[in-house]
Amino acid sequence: MRVIFIVIIIILHIHSAAAQFFEKEIINTSRGELEMTFIGHGTLMFKYDGKIIHIDPFSRLADYTKLPKADVVFITHHHGDHLNTEALQQVRTDSTIVVLTEICAKQVEGGIIMKNGDVNNVLGIKVEAVPAYNLVHKRDNGEFFHPKGEGNGYVLTCGDKRIYIAGDTENTSEMKNLKNIDYAFLPMNLPYTMTPEMVADAVRAFKPKVLFPYHYGETDTSQIIELLKDDKYVDVRIHPMK
Ligand code: ZN
Ligand code: ZN
Repeated sequence: MRVIFIVIIIILHIHSAAAQFFEKEIINTSRGELEMTFIGHGTLMFKYDGKIIHIDPFSRLADYTKLPKADVVFITHHHGDHLNTEALQQVRTDSTIVVLTEICAKQVEGGIIMKNGDVNNVLGIKVEAVPAYNLVHKRDNGEFFHPKGEGNGYVLTCGDKRIYIAGDTENTSEMKNLKNIDYAFLPMNLPYTMTPEMVADAVRAFKPKVLFPYHYGETDTSQIIELLKDDKYVDVRIHPMK
């Protein structure tokens, strides 16, 4: 009987540990390592320069009571899978800096509003707010899912590395004009953001060194690998970011 009980405890333990297992990558910057945790969907967590950075924390993907508190939170826009007040409350402390959009600020007090094109410095990280919007994909009522001016992507300069987290967007001219991006997180969740062809078009324009397709929903990631197979300057890396 006791043996069975112990076995059950071990199984439960493995199960709860597995529930919080996320893929990680560590990249080297001139100011030390940056650890990227791929939480899922459009959600990430970085550890850099002794700081914890949460990006679009979303409680459906993780138990945020068990993840480290945030020094900085970046929120790209107000849709529920990006601005999730439950997860935000769980990672926010009195000293957490929350970077968000004007619309998000109606639901979240005390954040730093960045408008499209704004540049800021947050705890030693240069932050550029890149417009995130649709060019093609619309709702049935004719409005874009993401009208221009509402959402941000963010370029974070961490030491000598530049990381672009695009948010919910298509292959805009602002994206295609980005310079010196080392790591790009680009969305492929249809119909809300980009087709693999749009992602390939953007990649060929701004030539990131590494592409992380993220927030890709049901889109088959093998399509973007196939489309970019002759574009040798970019390394396409797939993590579970449905
Ligand atoms: Zn959205
Ligand atoms: Zn989204």
